[in-house]
Amino acid sequence: QNANGKFTVPIIEGDGIGPEISAAVKKIFGAANAPIEWVPVDVTPSIVDGVQVFPKRTVDLINEHKVALKGPLATPIGKGHVSLNLTLRRTFNLFANVRPCKSIEGYNTAYSGVNTVLIRENTEGEYSGIEHAISPGVIQSIKLITAKASERVCEYAFNYANEIGKKKVLVVHKASVMKLGDGLFVSSAEKIAKKFPNIELCYELIDNTCLKMVQDPSYYEDFVMVMPNLYGDIMSDLCSGLIGGLGLTPSGNMGIDVSIFEAVHGSAPDIAGKNMANPTALLLSSVMMLRYMNLPEYADKIEKAVLETLASGKDNITKDLKGNATTEKFTSEVISRL
Ligand code: NAD
Repeated sequence: QNANGKFTVPIIEGDGIGPEISAAVKKIFGAANAPIEWVPVDVTPSIVDGVQVFPKRTVDLINEHKVALKGPLATPIGKGHVSLNLTLRRTFNLFANVRPCKSIEGYNTAYSGVNTVLIRENTEGEYSGIEHAISPGVIQSIKLITAKASERVCEYAFNYANEIGKKKVLVVHKASVMKLGDGLFVSSAEKIAKKFPNIELCYELIDNTCLKMVQDPSYYEDFVMVMPNLYGDIMSDLCSGLIGGLGLTPSGNMGIDVSIFEAVHGSAPDIAGKNMANPTALLLSSVMMLRYMNLPEYADKIEKAVLETLASGKDNITKDLKGNATTEKFTSEVISRL
């Protein structure tokens, strides 16, 4: 907290639509008198001893503040590019990615009553970055699963279930095929479950979860789902699709000391700079951040205005939701409802 009674929070505006949706968040927080002063930080990396690192000032600032808001960061496809998102997760040991997904009342899709919470292991699995060519035309890509990371994320899921009052944790896996890797994830969940006798541990194969999720998502309301990295990445986009798309779903990257809140979506290069981006996902991520910072009154106020705007008709919502509004128009509609 600074001399003006405001909490300083680092913000990574990000690439593509990042600056546009960050501007919307800042404007709305200002209009809501939220006691946040944003500190822009630079994540332009450099390579030290063959490893991608962020500027020291950025790392120090985020460690010091323990919380940050992040826009999307683009990762070029191809050789030699390490994802900045991965570097960020590793630098701050952000081991659990919490992705809630809830139908927006008043904005109708083919599905109603979606209310899922998905927790994605955020540090290893298919994202370990261990890939090599064995011979021309043959690549080995390693999915690394450790008991330490699996137990840590499962423990987080059980604690989170307790916190939000859910009675079941659902482990989503494919241990029928990946008997050792996913098998270890499942046995780690079983080990942790013993510490939480009030919560039921359930299991499901990922393909079955995909099928059932699109048939009747309301079934998953009773659970907190937890799963290895890539499954969580794909499954959470699937859940976003049920409620209206990637423009709507927030997330929190939770670590032991630091937590960074960000939209589920990427930098959307196809619409960047066109005043078309939907800032809702980053706004709802910033609402998660306010709750995490124990500022629930501001979280409630901003969330209510965002949800009311989304329900207020085509002229006030962005094109991804089949509306006619620009990013700026949506932002001013939210402000008018604060
Ligand atoms: P994307 O999420 O950027 O876009 C997918 C589609 O959804 C696009 O059509 C886009 O226009 C639309 N979309 C996404 N967010 C939107 C919003 N807020 N409002 C309106 N429409 C929205 O995925 P992509 O195109 O596969 O990836 C683009 C870049 O983003 C890549 O470099 C990728 O590596 C990166 N990425 C970053 C993150 C992150 O920073 N956490 C996550 C995913 C992808």
